[in-house]
Amino acid sequence: MKPLPFVIDDRLAAAGDTCPLAGHLDESGYELGDHEFSLPEGIDYDLVLTNAGEGILATGLVRAHVVGTCDRCLEDAEFDVAGEVDGYYLFEEPERLGEDEDEADYELVAPDNTIDLSVALLSALVMDTPFVVLCREDCAGLCPVCGANLNDGDCGHAAQIEAQREADRLESSPFSALAGLDLGASEGDDSANE
Ligand SMILES: [Zn+2]
Ligand SMILES: [Zn+2]
Repeated sequence: MKPLPFVIDDRLAAAGDTCPLAGHLDESGYELGDHEFSLPEGIDYDLVLTNAGEGILATGLVRAHVVGTCDRCLEDAEFDVAGEVDGYYLFEEPERLGEDEDEADYELVAPDNTIDLSVALLSALVMDTPFVVLCREDCAGLCPVCGANLNDGDCGHAAQIEAQREADRLESSPFSALAGLDLGASEGDDSANE
C-alpha cells in the first residue's frame, strides 16, 4: 500500500486536540494469505486524529468495495468491508515497555512531524476481510469430476457419485449377503397353520 502521510500541525499541538480527516485513496488492491483482492473503487476513510498526550491516536472507519476470488467456484466474489481504524503514533520511543505492551501496538511520529496512516488503514481492511471468501453463501462450487461450475447447472456427476456411494455402502454392509437368501420363512408359516 502506498504511504498516506499526514503532517501533525497546530491543530493537534496540545493534548486533547482533535482533527477530523476524511478522504479517498486510489489503492488498487491488497493481499491476505493466499488471497488477492482488488479495490476497483479504491478506499474511503473517515478518521479522527487525537493528541493523546504521548502520541497521536487515529480512529475511525475505512470502507471499500472488494473483489476477490470465490474459494469454491473460483469466480469473482464481491463484498464490502467497513473496518475500524485504530492507529497509535508515539512522539518518542518509550524508554521501557510496560509488561502488556507490544512494540507492534504503535508506530513513531517521524522526525519531520508526519505519521503514515496507510498501515492502520490496511490493517483495518484486513480485519474486516472474511477468512473464507465466497461469491454467495450457498455457492455450489465446482464438480470434482469434470470441473463444471455447479452454480451454472448440474453436470450429472453428483448423482452418479451418490449412486456409486450407495452401491458401495450396500456392498460393504454385513447384511448384504443375506439379501439374496430365501430363508424359507413362508414354508415354516404354512406348517404352523396346519
Ligand atoms: Zn462461488
Ligand atoms: Zn461433472
